[in-house]
Amino acid sequence: MLEANLRRVRLELAEAAGERYPVPKLVAVTKTHPLEDILPLKDLGVCDVGENRVQELREKLPALAENFQVHLIGRLQSNKVKYIMDTVCMIHSLDRWSLAQEIDRQAGLHGVRMPVLIQVSPAGEPQKGGMPPEEVPDFAARAAKLPGLRVCGLMAVMPDTGDEDVLLPLFRGMRALFERVRDAAPEGAEISELSMGMSGDYRLAARCGATMVRIGSAIFGPRPSQLTR
Ligand SMILES: *Cc1c(COP(=O)(O)O)cnc(C)c1O
Repeated sequence: MLEANLRRVRLELAEAAGERYPVPKLVAVTKTHPLEDILPLKDLGVCDVGENRVQELREKLPALAENFQVHLIGRLQSNKVKYIMDTVCMIHSLDRWSLAQEIDRQAGLHGVRMPVLIQVSPAGEPQKGGMPPEEVPDFAARAAKLPGLRVCGLMAVMPDTGDEDVLLPLFRGMRALFERVRDAAPEGAEISELSMGMSGDYRLAARCGATMVRIGSAIFGPRPSQLTR
């Protein structure tokens, strides 16, 4: 099933990106799934996995980090930053200044420079995390000055709806904001990633220029919490 699902997702991503954009990188979201279900992804050509909780991520180490590039995609408490500095390749959920400062501080202690994405809340849903789009350009400029951070781009979680009329303007708005931040970035800074699109909306995201999609249930099947909903 895993193999067939992956094949379908990859095909649809390529179709949706079309001629206009490169095919986005697939980050397989492995939260709630045990290692024995995750490790087969490696032989199917998946290099990147995403986890949303530090606790669960730590329970799956070191096997997860030995086999994949691990992305932290969920809301991050400042006091947990220290646990992930040596294991994750990118934090997608930088959404406030105090967190930027703590990542910078820990990066200094660990002797690394942490790639981060600024999480945006395109539809103003505070429970999903992210800052209002209008705050992003200033925040990006400030964060780029912290030596422990490498600001690589933006991330967004869209509203749970299948309604294209709602989603399309939000995805297009994110792409426009991404290009604005990228074009304003100082020489040497490389703003190259736009992480958006999940199982319900990755086709639209790819059509609108996502560079990374974060996909869980379309690959693994629904999580237990989704079946009982
Ligand atoms: C769970 C999760 C995903 C993937 O969700 P699916 O709908 O299963 O594809 C993507 N991004 C974040 C931040 C998540 O928490």
